[in-house]
Amino acid sequence: MTFFSYATLDRQAPLREQADQLQQRLHSPHSRILIWYQGKLIARETLAPFFSFDELMELKVYLGEPLFLGEQAQTSYFAYQLNQWHSAFAGIEPVGLRKYSAQIDDDLLSLLFYAQGLVNWHHNHPYCSNCGSLARISQAGHARLCENAECGATHYPKIDPAVIFSIVNNTGPESKILLGRKAMWDAHRYSVIAGFVEPGETLEDAVRREAYEETGLKLQRVDYVASQPWPFPDSLMLGFESETTEHEINLLDQELEAAAWFGADEIETKLQQGLFKMPTAISISWKLIDRWFSQQKGYSVKSLEP
Ligand SMILES: [Zn+2]
Repeated sequence: MTFFSYATLDRQAPLREQADQLQQRLHSPHSRILIWYQGKLIARETLAPFFSFDELMELKVYLGEPLFLGEQAQTSYFAYQLNQWHSAFAGIEPVGLRKYSAQIDDDLLSLLFYAQGLVNWHHNHPYCSNCGSLARISQAGHARLCENAECGATHYPKIDPAVIFSIVNNTGPESKILLGRKAMWDAHRYSVIAGFVEPGETLEDAVRREAYEETGLKLQRVDYVASQPWPFPDSLMLGFESETTEHEINLLDQELEAAAWFGADEIETKLQQGLFKMPTAISISWKLIDRWFSQQKGYSVKSLEP
């Protein structure tokens, strides 16, 4: 099962080393360019956030180096970092992808998450982690090369694996799902459990450890479901569903403010009363909750959300 895919985009990795070919594509009227400013996307239209190269001609000195994303149907996709705000973008409020429209389709969302991940990595890793010298962008944005000739290390984008998982208890008359909330979230918002994978762990180990640390529950079954890039700043969310026969919740590491068991009927009623909020619709956490909910009710949470 895949929740997010961008199968139609060809990343064209061999082109990353062919500067002439890339220049040609970048200058083509068919290229579509995304602009990032301070970690946010500059989008005139939420669902069509692209610029053409011609529109950016006068801004070239304000832009970083072009990051080549790939091609689809003879259209080449690039991303730029805007280093300094320019009046050409007056009236546009840069938008954080976390708050992006729930109307967005998986194709565009995948492209934006891909670009966001690359932009974040360059922004957060200006120096060589081997010797501390400046490193410059290479391979059309898919690597950084240390500028110190004695070192010359090549670095590739860093991705942090994190597990995210539903915990279900099927021992009672009704299936229940465990959902938790953090103190900083808005009222009534709940989500599934998540945490980073530690060195030496398998993904299943990480699920079991995080489940115990955050909820005190020991899991019986742990099954992989799907993954989602989550570039805030550089995670790959690996989604699982798990099952426990235990009921008693203990917030051992206090990472959650609260956690509780919910039945599907209760979620439906509370959603309608405004006493329950799902995670953001573009997240795998939403999809994991909806997957369980749909199995219980035969329909999606989508029809119930405001
Ligand atoms: Zn170096």
